[in-house]
Amino acid sequence: MSSISAVDVIAIKRDGGVLSDEMINWVLDAYQRRVVADEQMSALLMAVFVNGMTSTELATWTDSMIASGERLDLSMLSRPTVDKHSTGGVGDKVSLVLAALVAACGAAVPQLSGRGLGYTGGTLDKLESIPGWRASLSNEEILAQLEAVGAVICAAGAGLAPVDAKLYALRDVTATVESIPLIASSIMSKKIAEGTGGLVLDVKVGRGAFIRDVERARELAHTMVRLGQAHGVATVAKLTPMDEPLGLAVGNALEVAESVEVLRGAGPDDVRALTLELATIMMELAGLDADPATKLADGSAYEVYQRMILAQGGDPDAELPRARVNESVRSPRAGFIRRVDAHVVGVAAWRLGAGRARKEDPVSPSAGVLCRVVAGDAIERGQPLFDLHADDEAHLVAGRDAIAGAVEIGDEPIGAATNNLGLVRG
Ligand code: URA
Repeated sequence: MSSISAVDVIAIKRDGGVLSDEMINWVLDAYQRRVVADEQMSALLMAVFVNGMTSTELATWTDSMIASGERLDLSMLSRPTVDKHSTGGVGDKVSLVLAALVAACGAAVPQLSGRGLGYTGGTLDKLESIPGWRASLSNEEILAQLEAVGAVICAAGAGLAPVDAKLYALRDVTATVESIPLIASSIMSKKIAEGTGGLVLDVKVGRGAFIRDVERARELAHTMVRLGQAHGVATVAKLTPMDEPLGLAVGNALEVAESVEVLRGAGPDDVRALTLELATIMMELAGLDADPATKLADGSAYEVYQRMILAQGGDPDAELPRARVNESVRSPRAGFIRRVDAHVVGVAAWRLGAGRARKEDPVSPSAGVLCRVVAGDAIERGQPLFDLHADDEAHLVAGRDAIAGAVEIGDEPIGAATNNLGLVRG
């Protein structure tokens, strides 16, 4: 019988005190065993949200989350392991291209992912639009695929940091998601438990990201990099603007199709540039000196992608699902595109059916938005701005309503925006 009580732990954090290692380990373990109730954990999460955590508290909290489940052991693989995590953006399909590209360069990429919630898409939802593709793999299958193909994108099993799923669900309904220590421990506990040797974090900041302020994004990046380093994971974070959608396609099958274009040497420049930049950092973290640009251009990455999809039961050559109803949104005037608002486009894709409001909701594989313009383009009156794709008329109408105001049109051309807010290293 522990002498620690949940009420004491909550009161210490509420009053701005520091929790001992013993208290943190007890409260997370007791929460998992249902000895600490949801309402008590909600109060503690709110106290953490308001008062933060010291770096020692955060390290112990993260260790305790890792210890709540299993840890994958990837040490028997013949290749160095390196992974990537994005904090989520609109049209962010980089993982699909990057995993295959980095594997083609000689590393093993254990990309254990989650599903999308709200207006940012999830990598698994995108890949599930490929006929036959299976997200759920056993640990043995993950290891075998990493050795044979070099890359796996699959569902993070319930065994990795399982307390995170309970905490995340509670944070979602108690307005405590946007806390830097809670986000950092949530992301890093899963990545450390996954067993990767290196990790690049793509921290998105802007209208289409859940962090809009660059200084907060930088603080989150520093916090995650420190946690990674402290656990022996070589970690680098890149801060990337997420004011405009990444690429042109937003929606599951639409994004898979765009990723394949990039793998075949075409596709939007911004997707290709960000993928190559992250791949270059991953080469450094894995201690490899292959040139990602060459492996993308010579078709090696596309070949690995095809093997990666086949290994999980998917048919990389199968036709992707197509939406039953389509409509173009046209420009009301001539001028220059000043901005395409990532948040508005993300919400429209969600309303069209591409995203989910609750984690148990299904998503449409074919719904979404195809942007026909990017910031800086000159346009004529009546020229298409977006193509909307949906499964039925009701979703099409919801998407049409949601996309209103997504573009700002001016009379003058605008200069090029930066795509780089800097790197955070340990
Ligand atoms: N992604 C996670 O996995 N956890 C968070 O807390 C936020 C984003």
